[in-house]
Amino acid sequence: MDPDRARLLRQLPQVDELLRHPTLLPAVPPRLRVLAAAAVRRTLAAKRQWLATCPAADLPAELDLKSLLQELLPKIQAAGTASLRRVINATGVVIHTNLGRSPLAAAALAQIQEVAAHYSTLEYDLAKGERGSRHDHLEGLLQEITGAEAALVLNNNAGAVVLALRALAQGREVIISRGQLVEIGGSFRLPEIMAESGALMREVGATNKTHLHDYEQAITSETAMLLKVHPSNFRITGFTSEVPLPELVALGRRYNLLVVEDLGSGCLIDLSRYGLEREPTVQETLKAGADLVLFSGDKLLGGPQAGLALGERSVVDRLRHHPLTRALRPDKLTLTALEATLRLYLDEPQAIADIPTLRMLTHPVAELDRQARGLARSLRRALGPGIQVQVVPSIGRVGGGALPQVSLPSRALALAIPPLSPPQLEARLRRAQPPIIARIEQDTLLLDLRTLLPDDLPALKAALQGVIAAI
Ligand SMILES: *Cc1c(COP(=O)(O)O)cnc(C)c1O
Repeated sequence: MDPDRARLLRQLPQVDELLRHPTLLPAVPPRLRVLAAAAVRRTLAAKRQWLATCPAADLPAELDLKSLLQELLPKIQAAGTASLRRVINATGVVIHTNLGRSPLAAAALAQIQEVAAHYSTLEYDLAKGERGSRHDHLEGLLQEITGAEAALVLNNNAGAVVLALRALAQGREVIISRGQLVEIGGSFRLPEIMAESGALMREVGATNKTHLHDYEQAITSETAMLLKVHPSNFRITGFTSEVPLPELVALGRRYNLLVVEDLGSGCLIDLSRYGLEREPTVQETLKAGADLVLFSGDKLLGGPQAGLALGERSVVDRLRHHPLTRALRPDKLTLTALEATLRLYLDEPQAIADIPTLRMLTHPVAELDRQARGLARSLRRALGPGIQVQVVPSIGRVGGGALPQVSLPSRALALAIPPLSPPQLEARLRRAQPPIIARIEQDTLLLDLRTLLPDDLPALKAALQGVIAAI
């Protein structure tokens, strides 16, 4: 090794020396020492590697300790921060799967606090004083809200789909339209889920059109189920047709086959009353005669991650008693949050007002406009001439694979903090406390008002103050 490289490598400080340096020391409380030391070690190893291998022309004359410390400080601070933490969703996508889908209602949070901090009735029957089932807590409520004969709550909807196929059609055939062989979020592909469940897929029809006789011609003595899947995150438009559920149900009855619908989002309220597009509700799907309806707890329902399976008693019981159900059972935090959320549905106006997902979806644009102007004024006042902010029209999305082509008219703040470019500002906002997730459109950074929660506003202001102070 040439002498310059060897000298620079020797100049690299020891881990302990760095951790004791006045620049870093205040950021390293004793309980974080191990994590901080690991972060320093990783950085030093990368530096050593670089010094040993970079082109000779790139070698610095001396090691720059100050810039090394500046590089280490945020890494050490990150060691003190939880990885899974709150962010401000300023994207305008309401059910944002990457950002945790639905924020929970206050009633759900309060009930989690109560149940999780104490012992609970999770599997205890208070009336009899003996063992109970966790699967009994929500069934009555779901019957009341949806009219379903029976209900089972699972860990998530993908699990519910696997379980339904396994328990009801393992080793037998399931007929599904080619137009519904969907992939959701990259990790849920219906053909793969089907293969995993042990059911045999019989695709019928063409991508854009499937007719009742396509289903009928595919029925054999091996057929167990007709499956309908909500196309979720895409729409086939133009020259299309799919078989309406009631016709599929009639066909199923004639051949003694189960009819199952994976609704995906599973809406419990007709949102067309609030200006959104009509989406078949869970209640309508059950009324149309589906034997089993499956949907998520954290999409349009606005609750925690869960999979709900509702339908005929005999069918739901086959799921409930299947061994796989033990592996897919929901935990007590899920059940608690879901029960509290579902209770809000007993009074529709209360559900709309108190469930954040529903509130954000139905928020009138005139109100968003008013809020946007208020926020812009208050940011200008608090942050002075360092920030340029303007209220502009924006288009939000439902997200979560629900109502994919529906655009939600919204308002956004177009934000600039010179001399940062929009991508630089976007990156700084992501590193703010709390992180702010914005979007860039036509070279402008936008903060969409539709997905801001009430307590995001002070946090947003503080975070922007931090960004300006760091310029
Ligand atoms: C979202 C979705 C799923 C998966 O539900 P998770 O609750 O995320 O597991 C399955 N099917 C459809 C049609 C969906 O939209």
